[in-house]
Amino acid sequence: MGKQNKKVNKIKTLAVSGGKGGVGKSTIACLLAGKFLREGKKIVFVDCDVECPNDYLLLGEKLKRPIKKVFAEFPKLIKEKCKKCGLCARTCRSNAIFQPRGKYPIFIEDLCSGCGACWAICPFGAIKPEKEEIGKIYLNKIPNSKFQIPNKFQNSKFKIQNFYLITGEAKAGLEETGPVVAQVKEFALKLAKRVKAEVVFFDSAAGTHCPVIQALLNCDLAYVVTEPTPMGAHDLNLILDLCKKLKIPTKIILNQADLGKKQKVEKIAKKYKIKIEKEIPYSKKIVEAYSRGELLNITGLV
Ligand code: SF4
Ligand code: SF4
Repeated sequence: MGKQNKKVNKIKTLAVSGGKGGVGKSTIACLLAGKFLREGKKIVFVDCDVECPNDYLLLGEKLKRPIKKVFAEFPKLIKEKCKKCGLCARTCRSNAIFQPRGKYPIFIEDLCSGCGACWAICPFGAIKPEKEEIGKIYLNKIPNSKFQIPNKFQNSKFKIQNFYLITGEAKAGLEETGPVVAQVKEFALKLAKRVKAEVVFFDSAAGTHCPVIQALLNCDLAYVVTEPTPMGAHDLNLILDLCKKLKIPTKIILNQADLGKKQKVEKIAKKYKIKIEKEIPYSKKIVEAYSRGELLNITGLV
């Protein structure tokens, strides 16, 4: 486990996830962040859906110049040193090295996770790691003037910057995006510590694959968003199972709760002994705020 997964003292780390795409995960993440903002909390909000980040649009922002580039190391063969022994190909667990009999190994970049096992194992030092850019990190400081701030905070906590949006973006076509998420998280936690944020939100991608696991790892709590459809229920099972394996306390938010049959979702919640924390009905108000990039100002739903 890397440095990025260490907890930062006193900062609450919350993940918002969902097994299925299109259930309103990012929308709910923004609504929750708005709720914490109105409570006067300083927030770092992290878009970990690095293959298709779009939280900045929901928050009415634009991505300008990246604040940081994300790099990873990949293997490069030094032919003059290689004895064609085949040990690297036998070691690679990602099947990213193909070695025809008696020939040099061939590295299949798309399958390589950059784990480093091949250059560590090669007895002849014939593989060296080479740095390659795999993504970018953007930082938007969203001004307090963009939020509807309760009067009680107008002259106190909200005089200072309270909302930082971090967007992770993987290089187009990158097969394994987990390392990008890991580095985005590390950057976010450092920033949160520096600006003394109280809450960090990690808005994960949909699914249960590696980048989602990276986003969820070591969070204090995960909000799992679902919808009352057969697919919603099916994928809820998968994400709850994952959270259980990762030992992350979980709450369920049922979005568009009035548009389907929620019995299956209730059954799964019961199976995992997890409460459905909130049922959010379909709301035109949310759809309009979503399209205007004003979700942080919606109150009373989460
Ligand atoms: S382990 Fe090293 S020497 Fe053996 S095939 Fe791989 S690169 Fe060549
Ligand atoms: S770095 Fe890891 S995944 Fe990539 S080729 Fe080497 S052993 Fe395989």
